[in-house]
Amino acid sequence: MEYYSNHISNLIEQLSSLPGIGAKSAQRLAFHIMNMPPDQVQKLAESMTDARNKVQYCKSCYTLTDQEECPICSNSDRDHRVIMVVENPRDLAAYEKTGKYNGVYHVLHGAISPMLGIGPDDIKLKELMQRLQNQDVDEVIIATNSSLEGETTAMYISKLIKPSGIKVSRIASGVPVGGDLEYIDEVTLLRALEGRVEL
Ligand code: ZN
Repeated sequence: MEYYSNHISNLIEQLSSLPGIGAKSAQRLAFHIMNMPPDQVQKLAESMTDARNKVQYCKSCYTLTDQEECPICSNSDRDHRVIMVVENPRDLAAYEKTGKYNGVYHVLHGAISPMLGIGPDDIKLKELMQRLQNQDVDEVIIATNSSLEGETTAMYISKLIKPSGIKVSRIASGVPVGGDLEYIDEVTLLRALEGRVEL
């Protein structure tokens, strides 16, 4: 039996497909949306389709950007010989917020997780290796999370890069085990960066 109009049921169903939104929250959000002024709902819907349609991967570092190349990669004041490898754009943002890192990034969009069936081919690793072949790089700083997946990924990448002779380092363990970079304060992030160890 349908308690609500089909349109509302559909909205609830769509909202509950989002991560972290259970049935109850989806219902609450749906009814909140029903009470919003129509033009505000329009803006919300447009911001979602705009973000999804107009944002693309940067052709160099694979972060999300609305240009072909992101502002960091296209900035000639940045040190393009140092590449920090992060799991996602949120981690990139965390390091950018410190304002103390002047190199560039490479965004993997995930981490290797045998448990979840995520292998090296499922993240932007080939793209990193290609980049290292085409570009002069002095150091690759691996700043994946200190979770099991992050450590597995760091080890895998370091083994891949080592034979090339490029220096590979890992951010220090100032980052708590299992901690997501994006939730860690700037001082701790900087300490982890400065205390990085060569692999
Ligand atoms: Zn970029």
